[in-house]
Amino acid sequence: MNLNFDVRKADGYSSNSQIARVLTENWVKENSFCPNCGHFHLSEFENNRPVADFFCKNCSEEYELKSKGGNRLGEKIMDGAYSTMIERINSANNPSFFFLNYNRNNWSVNNFLMIPKHYFVPEIIIKRKPLAVTARRAGWVGCNIDLSKIPESGRIFIVKDSKEIPKNKVEIKLQSTSFLRSQKLDSRGWIMDIMNCIDKIQGDNFTLEQMYAFENKLRVKYPENNHIKDKIRQQLQYLRDKGLLEFTSRGNYKKIKIL
Ligand SMILES: [Zn+2]
Repeated sequence: MNLNFDVRKADGYSSNSQIARVLTENWVKENSFCPNCGHFHLSEFENNRPVADFFCKNCSEEYELKSKGGNRLGEKIMDGAYSTMIERINSANNPSFFFLNYNRNNWSVNNFLMIPKHYFVPEIIIKRKPLAVTARRAGWVGCNIDLSKIPESGRIFIVKDSKEIPKNKVEIKLQSTSFLRSQKLDSRGWIMDIMNCIDKIQGDNFTLEQMYAFENKLRVKYPENNHIKDKIRQQLQYLRDKGLLEFTSRGNYKKIKIL
């Protein structure tokens, strides 16, 4: 994988946003593989297709690319119309995402990661303020994707801090949560909440008591549910069955690190 953009591709473009778009799209096309099946390269959809930017000819997985210059990827990524995004998530018609964070000075890749589509739940989509009445599209409401709400297991780095992650590790990490694809939206929401709680606990080992400490927080989110503790235990068991946790002894758990 060549981490430098092919700057010749920007010949003839003058606006910075166009140059960035041409260079980032070209980089993905020339360098990325399909994390879903390992196929060695991705194909581009024709321009202005509203749903996705790339697809895999081998497994049909679709990807939308979001790029951002600067040293850090940041937590909020701007996306299109809020209502369209929510609709797509609810109908399971959303692509997986690539986030590309590049160095503006030398046009090279700092971070490149995939967020699998099964990690998209409505709460990671944040409404932006409607455009002002003076704007051309007055009243239009866009959205941001809040990456801070994606559990660690859903951030599949392909390049991290300018270093390439071995392809087989990328694929193994993605496969470790592929069971989420067949889950309904609300069950995925619960699993992600529990994963996020586990991520907040430092170290590899934790206890059931530490998990119960999140009970109040979860109750705010699920006021109808009177059995939050039961739900926590059930989800931990589920994650154990799926190979993401180990039960070391009664009430004691160990995180299984995939990468
Ligand atoms: Zn594929």
